[in-house]
Amino acid sequence: MKKLTVLLVIVLSVLVVFSADFYIVKEGDTLSKIAKETGLTIEELVKFNNIENPDLIVVGQKLRLTPPYTQKDLNEQMVMAMLWYQNSGEMRALAYQAFNIAKLIYDMDLKEESTKPRAVIVDVDETVLDNSPYDAGHIGTNNAYPKGWTEWCEARLATPIPGAVEFLNYVAKTGGVVFYITNRSESVKQATIDNLKMLGFPFADEEHVLTKTTTSDKEPRRQLVAEKYKIVLLMGDNLNDFSSLFRKKGVEERNELVDQMKEMWGTKFIVLPNPIYGDWEGAVYNYNWGLSPEGKDKARKEHLFMWRYEE
Ligand SMILES: [Mg+2]
Repeated sequence: MKKLTVLLVIVLSVLVVFSADFYIVKEGDTLSKIAKETGLTIEELVKFNNIENPDLIVVGQKLRLTPPYTQKDLNEQMVMAMLWYQNSGEMRALAYQAFNIAKLIYDMDLKEESTKPRAVIVDVDETVLDNSPYDAGHIGTNNAYPKGWTEWCEARLATPIPGAVEFLNYVAKTGGVVFYITNRSESVKQATIDNLKMLGFPFADEEHVLTKTTTSDKEPRRQLVAEKYKIVLLMGDNLNDFSSLFRKKGVEERNELVDQMKEMWGTKFIVLPNPIYGDWEGAVYNYNWGLSPEGKDKARKEHLFMWRYEE
């Protein structure tokens, strides 16, 4: 009896799982009837099943009730970048390299006369704070940014990027000022200040942490700093952290602009590595962030340069 019950439970579970993902077309079914029955829209059924003619479905046909490629599938693609970001010594070395170069440039500038006080502008996320546990948390789930982002910021759990605290305190010690120009929203400003402060970052206060108010364009905030300060350096993980010329530009244009500005990299602009996310990804989608996971997967793969060994 017990064995029979166990078997029945197993069979029922399999049926539930199976029926949650697929529907077998019965006699007299129409797409609108199936849509009503499954709680989906006709458009969703058409999309999930690549149906060319919605009036033509046949008895016995197996219909998908979930997208063929989900956000969870897409999140799997993040695993290697995340492994590298969180585990590789190379990532740490690159971060130290960025802040060491920043110090060299800053020291050179200290030798020059300046009428204005000196300032260093840094971005926050993936420039001085490491939020990778937040993104890694999406792996194995159907979640994506911005889900849970506010909660993550409020938790104040971000850790410092190697070398960041030391360099920015050096700037402060030698009479310079640090501005944090971030596109975190105003609503998490206090949490951001707290997080920076508890890690020992200097100038972690209302005046020096410039969150996003009306625009994600950082140029007006950079201009505000430039009015009173000599901006010695800008540091960021996104090209938009350096110049608004990059905003909303496609892949090729971004790369051409980087080439045109080649004298700036490592002299005034210091880039931190971020293979997890960024506007480089948006450029791949032509900034159509609303693309389906399948559409994103397709766009990503279309942008790869491939060579295959022909057997
Ligand atoms: Mg950033």
